[in-house]
Amino acid sequence: GALLTAERLDKTYGPTPALSGASLTIRAGEVVAVMGPSGSGKSTLLHCLAGIVRPDAGTITYDGRELTALSDGARSALRRTDFGFVFQFGQLVPELTCVENVALPLRLAGERRRSAEARAAEWLARLEVDDVAGKRPGEISGGQGQRVAVARSLVTAPRVLFADEPTGALDSLNGEKVMGLLTDAARDTGAAVVLVTHEARVAAYSDREIVVRDGRVRDTAVVA
Ligand code: ADP
Ligand code: ADP
Repeated sequence: GALLTAERLDKTYGPTPALSGASLTIRAGEVVAVMGPSGSGKSTLLHCLAGIVRPDAGTITYDGRELTALSDGARSALRRTDFGFVFQFGQLVPELTCVENVALPLRLAGERRRSAEARAAEWLARLEVDDVAGKRPGEISGGQGQRVAVARSLVTAPRVLFADEPTGALDSLNGEKVMGLLTDAARDTGAAVVLVTHEARVAAYSDREIVVRDGRVRDTAVVA
């Protein structure tokens, strides 16, 4: 059934609206690619769904709760427990090793160092980057960094993973490798994925593609 639903979202930053009447439903465990031209509102839609940006109008419902009616504190708490995030760049803490980066969300949730780092190490192995566990982000490649970021986003077992151009900074070979690992790991854990991309070969890893144009969800097509 529906896990995350957006109904008629409006969001305006300046003279032109970023979203105008955007509606979308994400079901538990499905991988949805959000496509569309640059400036069409994809990132804004993702940020609204993730509870990072509050829409001017419309409602977002997550797991039976109206996200748009929650206080900022309650939405932040929900983001930490239920959502994971992967972005294009600069998400790892440069002073921490890779295993410490992946363990960080668990440490922030109060887990002890030893067990947090043990689970983090398992996730690095799952993303096939256990060899960089002791290195800092400045010492590894972009593709390795994105795999570490994916490990960190899933270590808390989120129900929804939000990914905004997660392979945008990678060459196509590394991008496909990261997408394969990301979608396999998400399917294993049952996390739904909301993937913003403008690349068809990245969207090909999804179960369903939706197209955003002029701040609205234009059409949907079942891929698999
Ligand atoms: P996309 O992800 O499809 O490229 P965005 O959601 O980033 O689209 O942007 C949609 C529109 O909203 C664009 O015109 C963009 O310039 C504008 N916009 C997005 N975020 C902001 C912001 N924080 N401040 C001002 N304008 C913004
Ligand atoms: P994308 O690759 O998703 O299109 P953008 O470069 O449009 O990314 O936007 C990157 C970030 O900057 C987004 O978080 C967006 O909300 C913000 N942003 C986009 N346009 C503007 C703008 N005109 N003014 C301020 N922030 C913006």
